[in-house]
Amino acid sequence: MTCPFLKETEVKYCGTATVRKLIPLAQTGRTEDKCSSADHGSCSIWRQQAEVLGETAGGPCPYLREALMQYCGAASVAKLVPYSESLLSRCGNDSYRYCELYRAMAHPGLAAAEVDGIEVPGWLRYTSNHMWLDMSEDGVCHVGIDGFLSRALGTVERISYVWQKGVHRPTAVLTAAGIDLEVVFPNPFLLTGCNLYLRANPDRLTAEPYTRGWLFEGQPQAGTQYDLMDGGEARVWMEQEQKRINEYLQQQTGCAADGGMFATGLAGRLERDQMLGLFYEFFSRK
Ligand code: SF4
Repeated sequence: MTCPFLKETEVKYCGTATVRKLIPLAQTGRTEDKCSSADHGSCSIWRQQAEVLGETAGGPCPYLREALMQYCGAASVAKLVPYSESLLSRCGNDSYRYCELYRAMAHPGLAAAEVDGIEVPGWLRYTSNHMWLDMSEDGVCHVGIDGFLSRALGTVERISYVWQKGVHRPTAVLTAAGIDLEVVFPNPFLLTGCNLYLRANPDRLTAEPYTRGWLFEGQPQAGTQYDLMDGGEARVWMEQEQKRINEYLQQQTGCAADGGMFATGLAGRLERDQMLGLFYEFFSRK
């Protein structure tokens, strides 16, 4: 699927000019559009070519070219890109759902199922260390942290990416309450990009973990979905995780859960060693 804001337009341009100036066809036909008529005889570029080839002006300029281009209808300044390029970018496939501009303009809702107050979107697959994978039919995948890990972290101060390209188990270092915590997606895939915007706005990671807080983008490999949970299995697991963390916190720290739900921002409430122990128990790749 392509982004609903992706628009098409036909353009024309001079095939001989060193700097290609694109003119949407909708704008042609204006009095200054000399390229489409015999007026191209007054063009200095055409005259240089015509002198060599012995051509005379008549009808549209023989160097006038046409092409199909696309542009983002949501952007304040439309930048035209060739049709083939937009298909490769996030605009021409399901990845548009993770585009900043798309989310800002369309405000798509999440409408995710919840398990005891933690969102568990049904279209995602989950790892046992609380990361999610979204695989689109276009062969693009996105990865982020789930609502459970977001709640445990609370405020994240800094995000660093270990790799930004190549086949890896995508890894990021999240700094919360001054503690560096490494999150690793357990299965490798071809990493094509990271959400670099989060480095300037780390709040998004935990405030919108399933949308604008995504971490990694890439192309799945054989084994990328290995041992992941989805549907009913994921919901049952999330329920068990909530019980397990409450018991863990009670045993290790003496903190009782408030109304069955552990407190937001454990990183800022626990001692450093306690937080590292909890992170190892629930969020490390084992
Ligand atoms: S830049 Fe974003 S909003 Fe614009 S067409 Fe591409 S995906 Fe859609």
